[in-house]
Amino acid sequence: MPADCIFCQIVAGRVPATKLYEDDEITAFRDIQPQANSHVLIIPNRHIVSLNDTSDDDIELLGRILRVAVKIAKEEGLADTGYRVSTNTGRDAQQSVDHLHFHVLGGNALLPRLG
Ligand code: AMP
Ligand code: ZN
Repeated sequence: MPADCIFCQIVAGRVPATKLYEDDEITAFRDIQPQANSHVLIIPNRHIVSLNDTSDDDIELLGRILRVAVKIAKEEGLADTGYRVSTNTGRDAQQSVDHLHFHVLGGNALLPRLG
């Protein structure tokens, strides 16, 4: 794990975060600069840079992350009104933290634009 990875440090508890979910493989915490009324990040505890760096061995992990997204959405009261789950990969998508993360956004009407 790179010592300078902010999300690895959140997993390790060395950088504070408002954690909403945590298990052996996955951590969810509130985004520090929310872009919606509810903005949560879900990450694998293991340092994976982006979707590009996943393999078939990660299929179960990726599925579990999406299931945690549903759990968070329900707990945040977003399930009925709607929410978006997204991950940015690389430069054109403006990925700014090089540790795979899925955004869960909701709690207000989101811009329809995706690209
Ligand atoms: P992205 O632009 O898709 O790479 O998303 C990175 C997200 O991480 C942004 O929404 C940031 O606000 C968020 N972020 C960066 N540092 C922290 C932190 N220490 N705690 C919580 N969220 C963070
Ligand atoms: Zn990391």
